[in-house]
Formats: sequence, C-alpha cells, structure tokens
Amino acid sequence: MSDESQELGITESKSHKPGEWYAEVVQKADIADYAPMGGFIVTKPRGYALWERIQDALDGWFKETGVDNVYFPMFIPESFLEREKDIVEGFDPEVAWVTQGGHDELEERLAVRPTSESIIAPFMADWTRSHRDLPLRINQWCSVVRWEATETKPFFRTKEFLWQEGHTAHATNESAWEEVWTRLGQYERVFEDVLAIPVLRGKKPDHDKFPGANTTTTVEALMPDGKSVQSATSHHLGQSFAEAFDITFADEDEEEQTAYTTSWGLSWRALGALIMTHSDDQGLVLPPTVAPTQVVIVPIWQEETKDDVLEYAAGIADDLEAAGFRVELDDRDERNPGFKFNEHELNGVPLRLEIGPNEVEDEEVTLVHRPDNEKEVEGRGGLVDAVDDHLETIYDKLYDAAAENLEDNVREADSPEEIMGTIGKHGGYVKVPWCGDQACEEVIKEKVSAEIVMQPVDDQGGSSAGVPRPPEDDDAVCAICGDPADELAYFAKSY
Ligand SMILES: [Zn+2]
Repeated sequence: MSDESQELGITESKSHKPGEWYAEVVQKADIADYAPMGGFIVTKPRGYALWERIQDALDGWFKETGVDNVYFPMFIPESFLEREKDIVEGFDPEVAWVTQGGHDELEERLAVRPTSESIIAPFMADWTRSHRDLPLRINQWCSVVRWEATETKPFFRTKEFLWQEGHTAHATNESAWEEVWTRLGQYERVFEDVLAIPVLRGKKPDHDKFPGANTTTTVEALMPDGKSVQSATSHHLGQSFAEAFDITFADEDEEEQTAYTTSWGLSWRALGALIMTHSDDQGLVLPPTVAPTQVVIVPIWQEETKDDVLEYAAGIADDLEAAGFRVELDDRDERNPGFKFNEHELNGVPLRLEIGPNEVEDEEVTLVHRPDNEKEVEGRGGLVDAVDDHLETIYDKLYDAAAENLEDNVREADSPEEIMGTIGKHGGYVKVPWCGDQACEEVIKEKVSAEIVMQPVDDQGGSSAGVPRPPEDDDAVCAICGDPADELAYFAKSY
C-alpha cells in the first residue's frame, strides 16, 4: 500500500541497516504488507506460498509419527484460562479479551487464545480414560494473539501470528520426553533440510521456560546481524497441566494415574528467519525447496530471431514442468531482459535460464544462480538433470554460507567484561560455564541486553532427560560470579 513498493529495487543495505532492509525486502518482493491496525500484517500470495511449503513438510512428518489434526475455538473462557495459574501469570499482560457479543455484554469474558493448552487440555482429559488411549497426539494449524506493545516487524513481531501447536498426553515421563525430542528433531529437520538454515538445539534456562512447563527445549538460528531467533519450541509440561485439568487414566492394574503432557510449536518466525538469513541487497533469496518459482526462463530476442527463440524456450519450459519443477517462462513483450533479470532477482527465483539466438543455434542454455550470479552453460540434451543438479548446488551454497556464519560466531569468554565485549563487537553466541543463578544473567542483560538463549543438553530418555550439559572442565567456574559451574549457557541478543 506504500508508494515505495511501486519502485523496483532495494535501496537499503543489509549490513548497514538490517531492520530497514528487511522491511523493504518483505514489501518489495511481495511477501507481506502492513495492515491498517498496528501489529498486524497481510500475508500476500507469494508469502503464504512459503508458509505452505513449511506446513506441507511438517504436517507430513507429524502424521507419519502419529499426530492427528484438530481445530479448537479461538476463544477461551476466562475461568478455563485461570485453571493453570502459570499460564495466567505468564500471558496475562498480553491477552486480548472479548467482552461484548453483538450489543450484549458477555457474562464471562473470553480470551483470544494466546496459546491453547487451557481449552484443549479439558478435552484431552475427556478423551483419556485408559492407558490404551495413550499416547494421545493432536495438532492444530491456527493463529494466536499476543498483545505486545512493540514495533511491528513482519513475521518476527506481530500481535497475531500463524503457527501450529501440538498437544500430547502420555502414560509415562519417558514417553513424554521421547515426544519432546521427536518434535524438536522435526523442527531441526525443517530448518536444515527445507529452509537451508543450520540451528543449535538445546533447552531454555529454567527462568525462561514456557509458563507451567517442566522444560522448554528450543532450536535457535543465528541471523546475519548477529542476533538469535528462537525458531521453534517443544515443551515437556510434566504433570502440571494434567493435574490442573484432570488428565488421568486407568493403568493396567485399573489404578488411576496422572498423565504427562507436552506441547510444541513452530510459528511464521521461521519465514522471518528464512528471509533474513539468505536475502541480499538485490532482494529476496530463497532455497529451491520453498521457492514458489524455482526456475525462470528469460528469452532474449530481436525481431528476426523472436519466433525461433520463443519456440526453443517454450520447449524447455514444457520439459522442465513435465519433470516437476516450478517453472515460469517470462515471455512478456513489454519488458526488456534487464528489467526481467532485476525483477526475478528481487523476487528470489533461485535459477534463471537465459536463452538467446546463440543458445538456440548451439542447442545450449545459459544458467545463472541467484545467490552469487554464477553462470554456466549446459547442453539442451540432459537439461532436466542439469537443472536438478544446479538447484541442489544452490541449496548447498545457501546452507554452507549460513553454517559458516554460525560456526564463526560461537565464541567463549570467562568474565562478564569479556562476554559483553564479545557480544558488542561481534554479536553471535558466547558460550560460558554458568552457575545456574538468574542473577548472573541479569548482570549481562542489564548492560548489553543479551540473555541466555540456549543451553545444550544431551538427548536421552529417562528422568535425567533435559539436564543441561556440564562444562568440559570439572573445575569450571561461572564466567560471571566465579562460583562453581555445572552448566553451559549460550548468551546472545535475540529477536
Ligand atoms: Zn554465576
């Protein structure tokens, strides 16, 4: 809706003004726009298509691993929300309330869901009678609302956001832990295999876990501006929700037992991370796995060569489409090739095929990679396989660049000054031994607004699951207070 979006090309630079640059890419590449109300965005077709790719991948894996989709109301009665006190306290300042329906004031006000445990758990209680009903696994794709008063940043900070929330109930603690790791593994997989973004996996420090949870596990991605994005979380809820909502079952001896529950979610922050990680000063860059158009064919002709070039290009488009690629043949008459190149670069089409009279004559095609403009010529025969290889190479280029950024930006420190200095100078993660006291985090947070975003854990079943990995050195001391430290912590600034 802004005038700026009429102008082709990105004017801000990713390295100098990452915030402005990001907003410009999102709007000019037709991903999203700002809604009339602050804190809300409109997701445009090209943006929603990206979300659908993420959905398709995850939804398939969920179903393969025993999850059924459901849909619950977007409103939660206040009395339900109040049944789990940590949820009330944790979300209270951010809950949007409906107090009126039509012209009538409601007898009980309704919360617009900030998360759905409080409306789903009572039904899970209803559906869980015997140990044979467990594990119970359900998921919903929906939006939630958290009324935060911050500046809107599409996909990173919006009052309403799209996500999926999975909810499960289990007969044993071990089974719940297994669930937590299964979902965290699927989130890791969607980042690494679909979005070309390597992640760190671990747990949140106890003071920063999901309200009411026993443990919150997380995958964190490092953005090029040095900040960490909490990309998806998988919570072991212990028995607190089961106790609050009576999720009990009869075990094999007909004894009544309380279930263990989990919940896990991935939001459209993943889209924000995708755009932020790979894109550049020319606009959007997308891995072929999610790009709405994977290959664009730009024919280049003069009047006398037009028919031959267009016919040759159309044949190639047909072949690639038949092979299952998402292809666009850009044969618009009114635009010159230079304009088309810029536009497809802005929109992040991973691979461009250029076809002029020379290509027709030599039965060849010129291929250009979006991320780095690398150019190669391939023969017409075998082009389908060649395109497949090139798309894979482009994916690897994107993944490798992100992996290098991550690898280069995990540093160590042994004093508060060093932690703050390192984050101030480089951003990224600073890995330190930590005593476990939140006060030590505060020291850093107050001065440089960096916090503990992640603690590595060793995935293991049993009651010791989710215990932070200790420092390698047995005599390690907390990098902040100097007391003995038996945990490792990663400090970073975060989104
Ligand atoms: Zn300490």
